[in-house]
Amino acid sequence: MSEKHSQPILTRRRLIGAGGAVVGAALVPGAPGRALGAARWDLIVIGGGTAGLPTALFAAERGRVLIVEKSGVLGGTLDRSTGQVAAAGTVFQEAKGIEDSPDAHYDDIMRINGNTSDPVLTRLFVEHAADALNWLATNGYKVEPHHPVTGMGHEHFRIARYQWGSKGGWSIFEAMEPLVRRAVASGSLQVQLNTSAVDLIIGIDGAVNGIVAEHRDGGRFDLMARNVVLASGGCAANARMFEELHGVPLYCQIAHPNSQGIGLSLGLAAGGYLRGGDSYLPLAGAILADERFPSPATAISPLNPNLRMPWEILVNAGGERFVREDDPSIHHIEESIGAQPGERHWAIFDAEILDKAPPLIPDWTPDRIRDAAASHPMFEKADSLRELAVKSGIDPRKLQATVDDYNRARANKTPDPFGLEHRPLPIAKPPFYAVRMQGWTLVSFAGIAVNEHLQVITPAGDFVPNLYAVGEVIGAGATSGNAYTNGMLVSPAIAFGRLLGRSILEMV
Ligand SMILES: Cc1cc2nc3c(=O)[nH]c(=O)nc-3n(C[C@H](O)[C@H](O)[C@H](O)COP(=O)(O)OP(=O)(O)OC[C@H]3O[C@@H](n4cnc5c(N)ncnc54)[C@H](O)[C@@H]3O)c2cc1C
Repeated sequence: MSEKHSQPILTRRRLIGAGGAVVGAALVPGAPGRALGAARWDLIVIGGGTAGLPTALFAAERGRVLIVEKSGVLGGTLDRSTGQVAAAGTVFQEAKGIEDSPDAHYDDIMRINGNTSDPVLTRLFVEHAADALNWLATNGYKVEPHHPVTGMGHEHFRIARYQWGSKGGWSIFEAMEPLVRRAVASGSLQVQLNTSAVDLIIGIDGAVNGIVAEHRDGGRFDLMARNVVLASGGCAANARMFEELHGVPLYCQIAHPNSQGIGLSLGLAAGGYLRGGDSYLPLAGAILADERFPSPATAISPLNPNLRMPWEILVNAGGERFVREDDPSIHHIEESIGAQPGERHWAIFDAEILDKAPPLIPDWTPDRIRDAAASHPMFEKADSLRELAVKSGIDPRKLQATVDDYNRARANKTPDPFGLEHRPLPIAKPPFYAVRMQGWTLVSFAGIAVNEHLQVITPAGDFVPNLYAVGEVIGAGATSGNAYTNGMLVSPAIAFGRLLGRSILEMV
């Protein structure tokens, strides 16, 4: 076990940082929470992010709760998440006269992901989703005036139940932050910032009795608790773990840097197991900054016909087309990209398309693309298709044939072999361009298995006493399935967090 350590804590006298973010106060001698290690908490929540905050807030109405947070601020991925959420029966729908039901929501989720999310968790979610969003609304959360909508970047719902605030995920944090402040002021909640959970304290009976924590400055200490919730996010910032669990490299890291998968490791160490890695699906159109993985993205081209009809064709490294570029299903386009070698796909076009088409990359002018072709490793320009292919790493003979076939079918008005209908221009006027794109993701699909009470479960189906998990630590595969189902990370994180916070201190 580890040495006890006095820590800077968020106390009744804690500070609110610039921009309204909750930040850690310096150690306040004699402050109520100073002897953190001496207390036995009713609940320790590992991670003060999207799922951890509602869990802690609701549990703090029933007992003594501590959030242990690795970074110096609360909010986790809400600082960057688009914060798109969905629920049936919300005040937002009511205001627009939209009729909806949890059953219809469930059916829509399962239609979009092909019945691949966990049916028990999906059912639990749809039944509590509206309560969660209505709770946020009660606390000042507002959505864009024209919302709810049926969809945007992903496959659309049949009923408008999808929405987000003007500040994305931050709009959600802003609704919860005053509640955290009040709970801390009342003494029912304490927040330990700049401190990582590094291990669980497990009794000989297998029950979890607390955590081992480590302060940013290096000191380790034990924190004892009746219950522990893993809410430390996914592993989409841990390239090694991500690849091991999904069988695909982490091509692009956009996730929160603390999404290192510690909750997955802790859950495993306690006897749990992982599932969902096989649900992995890439998103389309990341233009990586360089060849090394994971790489930041220079830009994302949505390649989504619902947002912009394609003027270019898409080819793989073999120089072959592989999908109907204007397929109304973005899910199908994503699946097709996932089946290409290295998930690489190139948009091929010519000088006329560059000048006449709406921007391939949002807000990029033709001149910016021309400049990138002279300087960026993912953009190439050449006077012949053969030269373009050689420069881009595409099979040169096949690319010429692919473009010839495309131009011929278009000129003859014969059906495109993939069914592409939007063929406004031939690809014929040099210079020709190739933009290399990459399948990518921002979440991890693998996660620690939980039951309908959000208890971590063993391969034999027993639960690990006193250990629970919420948020992306249970894996995108559990809630979103093998698809990017609208809002199926943030909304379950909040709904399950709230549910667990209400029930955890009442469970035996
Ligand atoms: C750019 C982007 C856009 C997205 N957009 C959407 C969207 O529109 N809709 C949607 O449904 N999903 C979206 N997602 C996914 C969604 O935002 C996340 O799945 C969700 O916010 C994760 O919530 P969480 O509580 O599990 O993790 P987080 O919100 O990341 O919280 C985890 C917290 O745990 C802390 N932590 C980590 N390790 C430790 C440790 N060892 N000890 C203590 N604390 C620790 C972290 O610092 C963090 O504060 C998006 C993701 C990204 C990256």
